[in-house]
Amino acid sequence: MIPSVLPTYNRAPLSFARGEGSWLIEADGRRFLDLGAGIAVNALGHAHPALVAALTEQASKVWHVSNLYKIPEQQRLADKLVDATFADTVFFTNSGTEACELAVKMARKYHYDSGAPERVEILTFEGCFHGRSSAAIAASGSEKMVKGFGPILEGFVHLPWFDIEAVKSAITDKTAAVLVEPLQGEGGIRPLPEGALKALRALCDETGVLLVLDEVQCGVGRTGKLFAHEWAGVTPDIMMVAKGIGGGFPLGAVLATEEAAKGMVAGTHGSTYGGNPLGCAVGAAVLDHITDHGFLAEVNRKGGLLRQKLEGLVASHPEVFESVRGQGLMLGLKCKVAPADVVAAGYANGVITVPAADNVVRLLPPLTISDEDIATAVELLDKAAAQVGGDG
Ligand SMILES: *Cc1c(COP(=O)(O)O)cnc(C)c1O
Repeated sequence: MIPSVLPTYNRAPLSFARGEGSWLIEADGRRFLDLGAGIAVNALGHAHPALVAALTEQASKVWHVSNLYKIPEQQRLADKLVDATFADTVFFTNSGTEACELAVKMARKYHYDSGAPERVEILTFEGCFHGRSSAAIAASGSEKMVKGFGPILEGFVHLPWFDIEAVKSAITDKTAAVLVEPLQGEGGIRPLPEGALKALRALCDETGVLLVLDEVQCGVGRTGKLFAHEWAGVTPDIMMVAKGIGGGFPLGAVLATEEAAKGMVAGTHGSTYGGNPLGCAVGAAVLDHITDHGFLAEVNRKGGLLRQKLEGLVASHPEVFESVRGQGLMLGLKCKVAPADVVAAGYANGVITVPAADNVVRLLPPLTISDEDIATAVELLDKAAAQVGGDG
């Protein structure tokens, strides 16, 4: 008999009654150090006082009014994002997938309104993940995601990860945009090679192609900059954001330059919930925290500390791990065993991690994790690795 919850997930036998900072706690009191943060969502950890206050304060005023009216909380968050980034304008969504939908529409509409309606193709990369809508699975092209779901939305060209020459030769007079994650998440914490974003930006400028970045997982402070592309010193035309921006409240956004967004006039796009007062009040509290003086410096310092300890872990368990990769607090352990075995052994030892493609276990702790919890996390992972490696 089919379960009452549609069984599209293989769920771990864990369920949490509450969270405190970097810890999740089961009803019987068993504690787990959370290095998954709900897949890079709980940027400020669980039950952060500032987010609880922002949510409850807004909850007692007004939750939802729809985008038929002006929403001061939405305006405030949009202004903050415009101030803090390359963007001139923001549209709020409820998820990363919906941000992908709009990014694709916006890129195509830009060319349509620029007198080049034939420019509809979007170049994407092997291992990418942009969500689960019809457009997002077509963007990925992965057989696992598209098989059985009928005609695949046209206009996506899939390229290897990552070869700038392949990008160059794939650009034609039909190309609308290049869509890329600066640091792949689901794909296995795979960073773009050094210089790749700069080269992509230059290529896009030469050819009139839009650069669309998916920072749904790597954005909002995760890599130690507010957005990961800042490390490369270039800016996109359009950017997808979600996950961390809501700190656990479902919130996403598309950020764009005025030029890239020029086709998106009244009536061209919409969302009933997107940018509602409740979500935007929480999002503003998250953003205030992450852009607060010294916060990102701490993410970088803690990322360095975790990485250093993980290098030690890899050295002590060469039969389990191959290497550490990633940036800031978006780190991956490349495994020599099945990542699912490492994740399961982590559960048994009270630490939560998330598997990814390319034989990687992801570590995406709350950006607020303490030094003490980092030390504890690596001790627990050490026990887990010893069990997986057969010497525990
Ligand atoms: C999670 C993710 C998405 C999809 O976001 P949802 O909120 O699950 O729809 C898109 N792109 C990237 C890079 C992601 O990590």
